[in-house]
Amino acid sequence: MIKRTAIILGLAAVLAACSESQQAAAPAAPAAPQGVVITDASLENAASETSQWLTYNRSYMAQRFSPNTQITKENVANLGLEWYADLDTKRGQEATPLVIDGKMYVTTAWSKVKAYDAKTGALLWEFDPKVPGEAAVKACCDVVNRGMAAYGDKLYFGSFDGRLIALDRETGKVIWEKVTVDQNQSYSITGAPLIVNGKVIIGNGGAEYGVRGYIAAYDTETGEEAWRFYTVPGNPETSNDPAYLQKAAKTWTGEWWKLGGGGTVWDSMTYDPELDLLYIGVGNGSPWNQKIRSPQGGDNLYLSSIVAVRPDTGEYVWHYQGTPGETWDFTATQHIMLADLEIDGKLRKVLMQAPKNGFFFVIDRETGEFISAKNFVFVTWATGYDENGRPIENPDARYYNKDGVVFVLPGAGGAHSWQPMAMNPKEGLVYIPANIAGFPYADEKGWEAKPKGFNTGNDFSMGAMPPIPEVRNGALAATGGALIAWDPIKQEARWQVDYEAASNGGLLATAGGLVFQGTAAGEFVAYDAANGERLWSFDAQSSILAAPVSFEMDGDQYIAVLVGRGGIFHLAPGLLSLDGAPPENISRMMVFKLNADKTLPPKIAQQLGALNPPAKVGTVESIAEGSYLYGRYCGTCHGDAAIGGGVLPDLRHSAINATADAWKTIVADGALTDRGMVGWTDVMTLEQIEAVRHYVINRAHEDAALEAAGH
Ligand code: CA
Repeated sequence: MIKRTAIILGLAAVLAACSESQQAAAPAAPAAPQGVVITDASLENAASETSQWLTYNRSYMAQRFSPNTQITKENVANLGLEWYADLDTKRGQEATPLVIDGKMYVTTAWSKVKAYDAKTGALLWEFDPKVPGEAAVKACCDVVNRGMAAYGDKLYFGSFDGRLIALDRETGKVIWEKVTVDQNQSYSITGAPLIVNGKVIIGNGGAEYGVRGYIAAYDTETGEEAWRFYTVPGNPETSNDPAYLQKAAKTWTGEWWKLGGGGTVWDSMTYDPELDLLYIGVGNGSPWNQKIRSPQGGDNLYLSSIVAVRPDTGEYVWHYQGTPGETWDFTATQHIMLADLEIDGKLRKVLMQAPKNGFFFVIDRETGEFISAKNFVFVTWATGYDENGRPIENPDARYYNKDGVVFVLPGAGGAHSWQPMAMNPKEGLVYIPANIAGFPYADEKGWEAKPKGFNTGNDFSMGAMPPIPEVRNGALAATGGALIAWDPIKQEARWQVDYEAASNGGLLATAGGLVFQGTAAGEFVAYDAANGERLWSFDAQSSILAAPVSFEMDGDQYIAVLVGRGGIFHLAPGLLSLDGAPPENISRMMVFKLNADKTLPPKIAQQLGALNPPAKVGTVESIAEGSYLYGRYCGTCHGDAAIGGGVLPDLRHSAINATADAWKTIVADGALTDRGMVGWTDVMTLEQIEAVRHYVINRAHEDAALEAAGH
């Protein structure tokens, strides 16, 4: 495809949010008898629970393997919809619900919480933390939330604007609330908290926006902060950092602290009770471009690392860094799964991770020792790992040493993102929801940090992109996705299912020998865990990103999954957002059991119609400037080349581009701030904002011409 300039405008957030009511919390339900009290022992034994789903990743082992056996390979063909509930937000839905005592608790876009009767779908209570709309521009990847933690009689979750909130599980009433970040900076929370020994631990995001990453632990009863663990060093002269950060500072150069450094812990954490170690996955550098962030190079600890921490004190224990000198947005925040594997005749306590960089890692979780790494998709940035666990890099991948655009596989979207993996220990397989998607990187000349923008140091507006060497199974192919059944001992795939689109759903494995996954194409599918045979599917009418759960109630096994389009892949990549992933955007909880036969309402196709832009405006120069600015401020939400992915407004079709005044009201004055589309006059002049309109109209004319020519 012709290189289309990437962009960013924020307009979209606005219109998309039109349908979303910021509704008030429902009145508390009548007092119910006190339910199950979650203790440390409950959490340590969560993996064997048949009727509950107690933590985000099901248990501290984080295998997402349900012991439920009623639904089998033989009878899964009879699986049907038992109930569904439509949600009041139409942004990305990424959450894994918790199921406790026959009740289901789920977080949705904009950090809202719903409690349902798990058997009937009746709404028991709901809570809206009223995240300010303008917070939406503080994160790259949609106003999502991935889930909650439960402890005692409370639920805990992070709100998008950085609060940690404890709710009464029976009523949904706030018990305490704590701001965990400097809300003047671009921090956000999208990940689920983790409970360890009476503390609730939460990280944050913002490494595209110049923040310094950390996690913090809070007392589950009072919300009092117990400790904070930074992942990257501050200014060595003034920051009074502990020893592990002083050591890390020696691996950085320049004045990184002025740029934040990054290293946010925005998703994966887990805990080994026997070793008393908390494992956290650390994100990419801020900015991405290492030549800007740390001009003389260095490993830049603890970016893109797994770090083991003592959960009572926040003391550093060990780390393993998979991508030293990170420069491609290669986070190591992806799912950290624990297992005991027999390797070379010895039973090893390992942790496993398939991070963005495309390699599957097996690490000794007692010591941090590297055991093995093998690429699970085609990669171009490295040829493998040496025996010390350092990557053997392809020097051409460091784009800041090159002229023009360098296309690297995998790219910033990751060979695997936040979508949870699952394991079937009997099969000895870890299932990976993988992406096949490269990315064009280019050194941004004259880069300077700016508020609100996508501060990557990658020039999104570079000229023509070279031919894209998209590769699948060693052969050229389109960008897409795959469900990969990976043998972590042999470090090889046993089977694989290919998808046309990237960003398919997270995974569930069951003792019934099944693997469940929703797809970007909008199907919910059951596969044979042993060989990948497709055994059942259901038309969900919209893309699925979230991971399913399984639970048993009154003798029946239920499978639940959240439907809903969004996240980075349905916002930023423009045309690629729609490749194999239709634009219909429905947010809904679906719950299945055997022999149920409820049906969904008729599917309504989302049609934008033919492009009918206003007359061309501007000059070659203003359109070029608009292209650059769109890339920096607009495209991460409204899509590459102004092509929307079905979640936020497609600006080529938007009525507001018709007049300079209408455009100014929203893009400059911020008329739709409540819905997430802020005004941009603090980073663009009025002339520049108008130049973005010239660019958007020009893009619409380009594509209208293609449509007219039958493309
Ligand atoms: Ca990132």
